[in-house]
Amino acid sequence: MKVLVIGTGAREHALCRSLSQDPAVGELHCAPGNAGIARVATLHPVDQLDGAAVTALARELGADLVVVGPEAPLVAGVAEPLRAAGIPVFGPGKEAAQLEGSKAFAKDVMAAAGVPTARSYVCTTEQEAAAALDAFGAPYVVKDDGLAAGKGVVVTEDRAAALEHAAACGRVVIEEYLDGPEVSLFAITDGTTVLPLVPAQDFKRALDGDQGPNTGGMGAYSPLPWAPEGLVAEVMESVLQPTVDELRHRGTPFSGLLYAGLALTSRGTRVIEFNARFGDPETQVVLARLRTPLAGVLLAAANGTLGGLEPLRWSDEAAVTVVMASEGYPASPRTGDPIEGLDAAEADGTAFVLHAGTAPGPDGEVLTAGGRVLSVTAVGADLAEARAKAYAGVAEISFKGAQHRTDIAAAR
Ligand code: AMP
Repeated sequence: MKVLVIGTGAREHALCRSLSQDPAVGELHCAPGNAGIARVATLHPVDQLDGAAVTALARELGADLVVVGPEAPLVAGVAEPLRAAGIPVFGPGKEAAQLEGSKAFAKDVMAAAGVPTARSYVCTTEQEAAAALDAFGAPYVVKDDGLAAGKGVVVTEDRAAALEHAAACGRVVIEEYLDGPEVSLFAITDGTTVLPLVPAQDFKRALDGDQGPNTGGMGAYSPLPWAPEGLVAEVMESVLQPTVDELRHRGTPFSGLLYAGLALTSRGTRVIEFNARFGDPETQVVLARLRTPLAGVLLAAANGTLGGLEPLRWSDEAAVTVVMASEGYPASPRTGDPIEGLDAAEADGTAFVLHAGTAPGPDGEVLTAGGRVLSVTAVGADLAEARAKAYAGVAEISFKGAQHRTDIAAAR
């Protein structure tokens, strides 16, 4: 198979790494990619939001499958021209991707499908926002309606700050606060059949102890030894299958990766958010545990033949990933600094580095080129071992102003 992956992050590096290890994949391409992906795939400098350009590239390469990694091209409708050209694509069309592109749309789908989620109001004026905040009380949860790369949500005790965020966003969803631990559960679907992956947990806040601003994610681990038995079956029945069925009944079937961000509250499991693609950094740990070769699964989702697949096989081992971010992330990341120690981090084979915001420098060095720079991932017999290996890898890597959390997958 010839596979083309669209995107630039550590998620795409993780996808490319798994695809490159799949014997069914003969050629692997990525557009636009990054300095790490370049080691396992051929890069193409194509604008990932330009559906015509992506389709032209896929045609030129003779791609048998296009895997769209990030949400922005999905919401922009990159899947449509690919499908129109008869090229199998992993990722939903523009309308189904609204599940992530609009929080208000997601709430509407959940209401119609009977999926448990936080009670909420869609607000466009200061008066509406103030009334919604007072209806729920503190802590206040204010979400930008549109795409915000994981940074559009403010959770605060400060009513003035909540109102300020609402005013800055324009259209927001204000909802009740959900307590309890969070779980990310991914499912691969062809629009009818739903195949859940293993649960993971990510760390959204920038600083240790869940302090600081929300980020795209600072680390993740899997499995979750503390999660209730039967969680995956429950979420399949109450969340994933009803949502996929609802979108199919609306005439806009969702195929690709459905990501349920869940809160296990004292009153039961609730959906915090949906995403329309693999989550970053959870993908790094989920794929590290997947034993079934990836390409055939993604192709079956694209072709509508998931129902005929064998059950997915998983490693019993644990996986941990730790994100290294640049100084100033998430507000104003600094870029352009050389990264040292990349080879040393992987030297003994215990950890592997997945690149996110990196770029090749003029003299063969690798430079920082974004907020989240890379994630160091490791697998071990249990979480403690995987964690120790991942942090040993992190300790080898340095760049100016590098920051990472020290409590990823620490015992709860
Ligand atoms: P989202 O982008 O919707 O996943 O929100 C980002 C983060 O904000 C989530 O991972 C939660 O930590 C937090 N969050 C979002 N919605 C709620 C809520 N209703 N109650 C408590 N925390 C929330």
